[in-house]
Parts: sequence; C-alpha cells; structure tokens
Amino acid sequence: MKRYSVFAIAREAMRYHTGWEKAWRSPAPKADYDVIIVGAGGHGLATAYYLGKNHGIRNVAVIEKGWLGGGNTGRNTTIIRSNYLQDPSAAIYDKALQLYETLSQDLNYNVMFSPRGLMMLAQTHHEVRGYLRTVHANQLQGVATRWITPQEVKKLVPIMNIDGPRYPVLGALYQERGGTARHDAVAWGYARACSGMGMDIIQNCEVTGVTSANGVVTGVETTQGRIGCRKLGMVVAGHSGQLAEMAGFRLPVESLALQALVSEPVKPCLDVVVMANTVHGYMSQSDKGELVIGGGTDGFNNFTQRGSFHHIEETLRALIETFPIISRMKMLRQWGGIVDMTGDRSPLISKTPLGNCFINCGWGTGGFKAIPGSGWAMAELVATGEPGPLAAAFNMWRFREGQFIDESVAAGVAH
Ligand SMILES: Cc1cc2nc3c(=O)[nH]c(=O)nc-3n(C[C@H](O)[C@H](O)[C@H](O)COP(=O)(O)OP(=O)(O)OC[C@H]3O[C@@H](n4cnc5c(N)ncnc54)[C@H](O)[C@@H]3O)c2cc1C
Repeated sequence: MKRYSVFAIAREAMRYHTGWEKAWRSPAPKADYDVIIVGAGGHGLATAYYLGKNHGIRNVAVIEKGWLGGGNTGRNTTIIRSNYLQDPSAAIYDKALQLYETLSQDLNYNVMFSPRGLMMLAQTHHEVRGYLRTVHANQLQGVATRWITPQEVKKLVPIMNIDGPRYPVLGALYQERGGTARHDAVAWGYARACSGMGMDIIQNCEVTGVTSANGVVTGVETTQGRIGCRKLGMVVAGHSGQLAEMAGFRLPVESLALQALVSEPVKPCLDVVVMANTVHGYMSQSDKGELVIGGGTDGFNNFTQRGSFHHIEETLRALIETFPIISRMKMLRQWGGIVDMTGDRSPLISKTPLGNCFINCGWGTGGFKAIPGSGWAMAELVATGEPGPLAAAFNMWRFREGQFIDESVAAGVAH
C-alpha cells in the first residue's frame, strides 16, 4: 500500500491523478480464516486493525452485510470525550481518546480529529452535584476535566442564553481534550490499513447463520456462501441480538433507533461541542457550517434506520431556550441508526458461551468515541482468549452477578 504524503500529492498532480490505488481491495471470500469479524463498522474494523498491528494476526476477514461504515459509524454525531464516572469506563474511553489524538498519523489517513473542547451543561441543581462528582472522579482517574462557571460557559459559547427562565445554565463539566472526528474517515482509515495488511474486507455479504460443533464456532453461513474460521468476533451493534441468536445464546441488550439532524450551513458560530442533557439535546458545528444536532432514542424497540418528525420537534423545542438562534434556522436532513443498549449503559467486550466466539456490543448512543480503545481491547480478547485490563469489567455475565458499571447519567441520553 502506497503511503499518502505531500510528495504523493505532488507526484499525482504531475500525472493527472492516474496513479492513486483503491483505498482497500474488494476480494471474494476465501474458504476459511484464522479470525472472522462480523460487522465493518468502526469497532469491527478497529478490532481487525489491532489484531494485525498488536498481535500479528493477519489472516482475517471482516464481513459486512452492507457497505463498510454504513451502520452507526457513518450515522453518528461524532462526539468524542472520556469524562465518564466509573473507573472501567474512564479507562477505556480515555485510552480511545489517547489513540484518537495520533490516529491520523498511525493510520496515515486524516480522520480530522478536532479536539475543540466539550461541555456538558448543568441546568438543574441535581446536575451540578452530579457533574461536580464526575470532575472529582475524573481527577482521581487522571482524566483532565474541570468545572466551569456560567460566565465561562458564555465566554466560550457567546450564542448561548445562560439565563433561560426554565433551565438557566448553572455551570458545566468541561473537557478541553474532547471534540469530534470525521466518522467516515475513521472507518475508511481503519479499512485501508487492514486491507494494506492483507486482510479481506468483504462487503455486501450478510451473515445468516453461525455453525458450531462441540461448543466452538466452525464458521458462518453468508449470502456469499459458507466461510470457515478458527475464531469469531461479533461486532454488529444494534443487530447483536440477532447474531447471538444465530449462535444460540441471548444477550442483555435491546435495540433502539437513535436519530440526529443537521441545519442549513451558517457562518462559524459554535466552536465547542455542547451537550444539554436535562433538556435532552446537544449540538456542534460541522466544518461545512451545519449545526449537527441530536437528542435521545426512540421510546420503543425497533430496527428502522430513519428519522421521524416528532424527533425534530422535540429536540429543537428542548434546545431553543438555551440556543435561541435555532428558532430561525431551517433543518436540512435527519437520519437514524440502530443502537444497542444494555441495562447499565456500558458495553460488552466479552467471551460468550461458545469457546472461540467473542462479542463486542452495547455501546449504545456513545460508541463512536470508543472505537480505537474498543478495537484495542477486543483484539486482545480475540487474540489471547482472555480479556485484558481494559475489557475485564465489561463481561456479559456482570448482569447476572450484579456488577453493573452504571453510566446511565453519562450515557443514557448523551453521547
Ligand atoms: C444518530 C446517532 C448519533 C450518535 N452520536 C454519537 C456521538 O456523538 N458520539 C459517540 O461516541 N457515539 C455516537 N453514536 C453511537 C455510535 O455511532 C455507535 O456506538 C458506534 O458507531 C457503533 O459502532 P459499531 O462499529 O459497533 O457499529 P456499526 O457502525 O453499526 O457497525 C456494525 C455493522 O455490522 C453490520 N451488520 C449487522 N448485522 C450483520 C450481519 N448479519 N452480517 C454482516 N454484517 C452485519 C452492519 O451493517 C454495520 O455496518 C451515535 C449513534 C447514532 C445512531
């Protein structure tokens, strides 16, 4: 695989851009692989990448029913932060953030990581107490966050009305290193790097069955035929329940639609990511000038990957007091993705009842930010058969044993 560089751009400019290679190959599936990863979203691709990079396992196929990055990875609002409350969460999200900081260099692909700062507004006294607690927890965890006053909030975001009658801004939990990255580029960068290591990314190939014998997986049935494997990683987000059912076990996960929308493009007016969890909305501005806006999940289980009118109305109504500017803006597009929620709002990176089958799911509304850390931890689990320190707490049996990692405040509504 040729490296992207300033010299490559100059060379290609001289020859009318005829020498660029495809970013990744599109091979037919082989009869079997050492490892099959189902799902070419960010988490699946990152798992494959770190299997190759950290563990030297390269006879790997990533199997995707649609196009790579076409699931939640290409549908999210790209918020990246690591200001979680519980120690296992802070550890894995901060590992992800650290990897994001140098991901463009690592992948030789510009993922447009933009650490523009992120604030979570406190608009009730209950939230003030909750976020102060998180600031203290983050200090103990070595995650740099701080409490900022309403005046500091206003200075950072002049378009905000901090004196709303219903929900005045009482302060915010602020993480300077938080921000955004380009979601497609994250998937494309990992895919290109995996393909460069000789791994096969097989798109338009749906897994329709899992074959097993004597308690271990032997392969998968797909729309392109049977493919054998020695290890299987399931990384399919909102469709995890369906895939687990094919393998013969149940997961403590439910699937819900989560929607987002963007406004018409406007001049730069918001260079921080703002989350307002009490009123149920959040906002950032994209490089194109659109305001990227999101709210909560649908209140019922479903698999419809599309938007609905009531969501626009509810989310904008929630944000208008704090951001009066949006009352006059046109909304351009909306969409939905299927997220996988656990009861404690923390993920699963876990062994399963099948010996050589591993699952990574349950990232719910907030897994984009976790992609590099999750891939790192899942690769270790798949390669060694045992979870490393990043993944150990996230096993699927914690619900039976009552060892919840409660992030319902950090992740239930927000991302
Ligand atoms: C509207 C919205 C906003 C969000 N905002 C944020 C945010 O701001 N910050 C944040 O951190 N997170 C956010 N998230 C959550 C985040 O997008 C997800 O947690 C994350 O992208 C999950 O990545 P993934 O790789 O696990 O799943 P996906 O990207 O969904 O990938 C799973 C893949 O598996 C494939 N698949 C499913 N079934 C099969 C099968 N049978 N055979 C083969 N392939 C299959 C799917 O086609 C899909 O491509 C948001 C999500 C949505 C929907």
